[in-house]
Order: sequence, then structure tokens, then C-alpha cells
Amino acid sequence: MIEVRGLTKRYPGRTVSRNAVDGIDLDIPEGKLVTLLGPSGCGKTTTLRLIAGLERPDAGEIRIGGRLMCAPADNVYVGVHHRPIGVVFQSYAVWPHMTAVQNVMFPLQSGQKKVNRAEARRRAMEALEMVGLAEFADRPAPALSGGQQQRVSLARALTREPEVLLLDEPLSNLDAGLRDRVRDEIRAVQQRLGITTVFVTHDQDEALAVSDEVIVMDQGRIVERGQAQDIYRCPREEFTARFMGISNSLPGTVEAGGGAEETAEITLAHGRLRCLTSGETTVGSPVNVFIRPESLVLSRKDPSGRGWKGTVEFSIYHGDCWDYHVRVGDTLLRSRMYREKVGLSHGDPVFVVPEEETAIAIPAASAAAS
Ligand code: ATP
Repeated sequence: MIEVRGLTKRYPGRTVSRNAVDGIDLDIPEGKLVTLLGPSGCGKTTTLRLIAGLERPDAGEIRIGGRLMCAPADNVYVGVHHRPIGVVFQSYAVWPHMTAVQNVMFPLQSGQKKVNRAEARRRAMEALEMVGLAEFADRPAPALSGGQQQRVSLARALTREPEVLLLDEPLSNLDAGLRDRVRDEIRAVQQRLGITTVFVTHDQDEALAVSDEVIVMDQGRIVERGQAQDIYRCPREEFTARFMGISNSLPGTVEAGGGAEETAEITLAHGRLRCLTSGETTVGSPVNVFIRPESLVLSRKDPSGRGWKGTVEFSIYHGDCWDYHVRVGDTLLRSRMYREKVGLSHGDPVFVVPEEETAIAIPAASAAAS
């Protein structure tokens, strides 16, 4: 549904070496929700705005539904109002002097394809129904909550029956509880309509919850893409592993296995570990082993003999869990324990037992590539 080739955008006066969007290729299949995920400034919003026609690229091509939307080399540029898209921004952008239904009707009563008032109201009510807001139709926009206003802008984006929905951090301005509800509603509407959607976010949990596929970006480029479960469980790049919260990283060497095998025996500075490999490894090759904090179990004793001897530096309470920072040799590891406080404090000796099945070894060379 969306095909992007060699998309490049430069902003004048940028001092960093790379372009804001740096030669991106993208294919987004019909009916799927794909997330652009990455840290602030990585180029997600610019990519979305280029697809929307709110920015002009310096190079590359964009096709929507097979139709060429822009190609600077051939002087082709279809403006935002002529693209088959609906856009929802972070700031709800509802008009305060209008009611909910008037906000949704407005785009239907302007532009080339305008319809009469009765038809506009009928279609606007349909869209409000879709986002669960029909009963608030005649309420002035400022009298709606943040979540309701964001749903009005979603209804407004849907009302022209676009082929593609573009959502730019649509949940960022909502408080935590509301964010989950609106997120689930967006996903429900998207699946019900089967509408191809690009969703921009910097929030990993949001991306995992909402996406068919996640595209991880850094410095204007795509680092990797994959299904949410694969990006979470088995990232191929170190950048992705770190960005997805796998904060423990230990350098090691492949002792046995690797290559075409799924698991390898890895030697680390303070022990051995058998774990999944991501990418090509050979015996003797350097890797970095990534382990989630929740996969490092702390214990005062080590009956398994697999534990690494360490010392507790400090702990942090999060409500449903504790994070312990434990020094093992030169490395500070983070362990997340969901049980009652294990009663450890600064200076206590402890064994750190890795759950091998969730650790992942990434070839060390990928650090240089990213
Ligand atoms: P965020 O999550 O903070 O919104 P992002 O990943 O969406 O970040 P973009 O907004 O696409 O990133 O910005 C990519 C880069 O381009 C950044 O370095 C940003 O400073 C720069 N940039 C974006 N818009 C402009 C502009 N209008 N003029 C100059 N530079 C810009």
C-alpha cells in the first residue's frame, strides 16, 4: 500500500552529519499497522510528514496504493489535500469554537470533493460512532477530555475514508490511564476497518502493544524491522536491544555452536552461558550477550552452580518490582525481581543466575555497523 524508495530529507542549517531522513526504503502492506519507533530526533515524524505530503523530500519516491505521490527527480508532487490519507497529530488540533460533530464534518464541507450538510453530518456521525463518541456529538470541543478530543481528531481523519491513516505520537498528550484506553481503541478501529496505518512513537511498550510490525529508526535510517515479538525477543542489532530495554550487555566469545545453529556456548569474563544467537557467529567470534533485568535472578545461595558472584550496590522500588544493581567483576548488572523484596542491601554478597533461554548473543561487529 505504501512504497517508499530512497527517501531523503535535509533541513538547512543542520549541523549533524546525517540527513534528517537518510535514504529510507519502506514497504507497508495493505491493512497493517506499522510503527516507526526510535529516539527523539531519529527522523520518524519527518518520514511521516513526507508520506503525508506536509514536507517535500530532497530525493526519493513515495507511492500510495501504486500511485506516485512524489518524485523530486521527475518533478512530481501531490499535495497533502490530494493524497488518500488521514492524519492525526500529537496535539489533537480540534477547533475549539466547534462541537465534536462540526469538527468531524468540516473537512467534508471543504475542498474539491465537498458534500452537502446533511450528508456531511451523516458521515461525521458514522465516524464518531466508530470511535465511540456518538453521544458527545453536540458537545463543544473544549468540554471534551483530552482522550475524547484525540478520538474526535481520529474520527475527523477517518471521515474521508482514507486509504492510509498516519498517526504522529497520537497518545503523547494523554495521561497514563487514558493513553492505554485510546491506544486500544485506535487498534480496535484500525483492525475493524482494516486500514493501512503508520504510527509514530518513541515508546517501546506502545509500539509493541499496537503494531503488526515495528520499524526501528536511528539517525534518519532504518536499523531493523520485524514483528513486535521478534523485535522484543530476538533483536538483530545492538541498538535495538538497548532501545527495547535489554540493559545488561556482557562481552563474550563463542566457544561452541553458533553459525547456522540456534544456540551457542558463550564464554564471558565471569562464566559461561548457553544462549540464542542473533545473526551469523562462528567459534571464536566476539559477541555481546544481552540479558533483560527480569532474566537475572538473585539468590543468596547457588545450588545450580551457574550463578555469578556479585555484590549489591543499590536497589530501587517500583511498586510491582525491585531493581537491584549488582556489581559482578567490573560490570554493573541490573536485576529485576517481582517477588517480595529479597531483603538485600548495599554490600550484600549475592549470586546472579541468568535465565539462559531469554539471553541473546549479538555479533559484536553489529555495534560498528549501527
Ligand atoms: P521526536 O520524537 O522528538 O519528535 P523524531 O524522531 O520525530 O523526533 P524528527 O522530528 O523527524 O525526529 O526530526 C529529525 C531531525 O530533523 C532532528 O534532528 C530535528 O531536529 C530535525 N528537524 C525536524 N524538523 C526540522 C525543521 N523544520 N527544521 C530544521 N530541522 C528539523
